[in-house]
Amino acid sequence: MASQAEARMRKLEAEIRRHQNLYYVQHKPLISDRQFDRLLEELSSLEKENPGLASPDSPTRLVGSDLDNSFPKFKHTIPVLSLANTYSTEEAVAWAEKTCEKKETILIEWKVDGATLVLYYEKGKLERAVTRGTGQVGDVVTENARTIRSIPDRLSEAIDLTVRGEAYMNFDEFDAFNEQQGNIYANPRNLVSGSLKHKKSRETALRPIRWVAFEAYFAKDEKLKTDSSQLDRLSQLGLPVFESHTVSSSGLAAKIELLSKKVKKLNFPVDGLVLKVDDLNLRRDLGYTSASPRWATALKFEPELAQTTVEEIEVFTGRTGRVTPRARLVPVKLAGTTVTYATLHNADYIEKLGVRVGSTVKISKRGEIIPAVEEVVDQGKGPPFSFPKKCPSCGSKLVRGEEAADWLCPNEECDEKLMNAIVFFCQRKQMDIAGLGERNVEILFRKGFVKTIPDLYRLGERKEELEAMEGFGSKSVQIILEGIEASKKQEYRRVLYSLGLREIGPSVTDILLDHGLHSIDDLINAARAKGAVEALQEIHGIGPSTAEAIVEQLNDKRVLAMIDSLRQAGLQFSQKIEKSNLQQIFEGQTWCVTGSFENFKPRDLAMAEVKKRGGKVVSGVSKKTSHLLAGEGAGSKLEQAEKFGTTIVSEEEFLRLIG
Ligand SMILES: [Zn+2]
Repeated sequence: MASQAEARMRKLEAEIRRHQNLYYVQHKPLISDRQFDRLLEELSSLEKENPGLASPDSPTRLVGSDLDNSFPKFKHTIPVLSLANTYSTEEAVAWAEKTCEKKETILIEWKVDGATLVLYYEKGKLERAVTRGTGQVGDVVTENARTIRSIPDRLSEAIDLTVRGEAYMNFDEFDAFNEQQGNIYANPRNLVSGSLKHKKSRETALRPIRWVAFEAYFAKDEKLKTDSSQLDRLSQLGLPVFESHTVSSSGLAAKIELLSKKVKKLNFPVDGLVLKVDDLNLRRDLGYTSASPRWATALKFEPELAQTTVEEIEVFTGRTGRVTPRARLVPVKLAGTTVTYATLHNADYIEKLGVRVGSTVKISKRGEIIPAVEEVVDQGKGPPFSFPKKCPSCGSKLVRGEEAADWLCPNEECDEKLMNAIVFFCQRKQMDIAGLGERNVEILFRKGFVKTIPDLYRLGERKEELEAMEGFGSKSVQIILEGIEASKKQEYRRVLYSLGLREIGPSVTDILLDHGLHSIDDLINAARAKGAVEALQEIHGIGPSTAEAIVEQLNDKRVLAMIDSLRQAGLQFSQKIEKSNLQQIFEGQTWCVTGSFENFKPRDLAMAEVKKRGGKVVSGVSKKTSHLLAGEGAGSKLEQAEKFGTTIVSEEEFLRLIG
């Protein structure tokens, strides 16, 4: 018996480590948190039954590691422990009753589903930001953390402080960013943890990451008696905190019920509640186990699951060429909607789950976004699914994508890619063409009416043919043609990001316009110029990969031909800029803004003042930079400005200039 248990324990350890690596290091979890917790629970109960067989370095004793070898390491001054957790309200209440005497209060916080990030402030200045890592040692990602707007570079008082918090992303901002990137990220959490460890902080800066404080460790005794008063103090210091709630253990169950209803309405991912003893003296008395504090526990929410059968595994090619599998399901109700499709992410995921046609599966809405197949209840009798080697649309041999688990169709003429590019162009968030939803575009594409985006603008010539088609009465043809005509009035800004060019989404478009590239010709010229990649990177907000994508695509004959046809069709290719009422005192000047400011927080506000008055803003000082606005703590840029003879402007002078 013992040897059987031992074998199972070793197997579980290996399995848990593998998933920890997938989760924390590769940001590509293959199983849900619930499934992961089950593995841990099983191992932990086997260890209780067979204490002699437990490994000294069992994963039940350590928190998962997110260490990445390419970042400098830092030993946390206070270990970042994980919390004991439960999925049952009764257990949580029992914990509270056992831990606190009736009079003590429990502090309840959202368990935000993001990535832990500890900030170290010295004399009020952000000295370093460190990931959780092993809990003892983390990765130093300070430069990336500085790009997060909700993290202040300076506190309102010059004190020493260590503060633990969570980096996260709002659902709407995640959706917008993900769509721009071709929907390659499974959920906000993976994108956040990947972004914190990005090699280039300029890329991190483009991602809509937020941060919120949860736990403070003041260096000097603050004489505060409760955690809730510590949180108030953090807020005073300029750090973001969420509202928290305090209840007695007798009121806990009711409060939990209330909050678990409220969670569905939140705009950020929350996977449970954190319950803590509010009284700091009692905390000191309770202390820690080897893995977690005794004064806190996490109550995790069960993800809503539904059971159904896989009717078919479909594979389709998106507009970027990425081949994505999804399960077509026997329709089932889940979280208030009927679900007929669930994502299977990629080939690795299918293999890991062992899902087949005919399998009975459980599906969930992960992070409340896209339904996903979570587990296979019964594999069924069908043959194993083998991921296609060829594009389901054009038959081209698939190639591996930049993300290792991805397969891409390399064919530029691939029907499915072309069709989905047209679907994208017509969608509400892009050109918003009435009557041209996915279904109609597909019909027009298959019948040969529209093979490219410019073909849309030639549809009018074939009005009679269209009207004769089944399901396309004269009324619907009229709606489509009017919609197409109206789209010619869409502003250039929208036209540019509707083209579906890689990395050129709404936010990059706005940055380019802001920088004075007001027309497609401005942009093409910028992409053709010598040293174009470097020059584009100087624009604040444009990272290296975006700069490369712009230059490559706007020198591509295919792209240029499409732009020409659309221009001839009458689309807008330059932006009408409303004249500012302000005097254009910075016209012709190029400004760089560095350091931190009293009156401009974040410093983008100072940049906006420059742009409103006709100036350009760049992110580095070169000989072309005419002015450097230097705030507190301006470092190497100040030296460079001195070297190039750039005019250096202080905050005070700047305020005088703009009146
Ligand atoms: Zn293809």
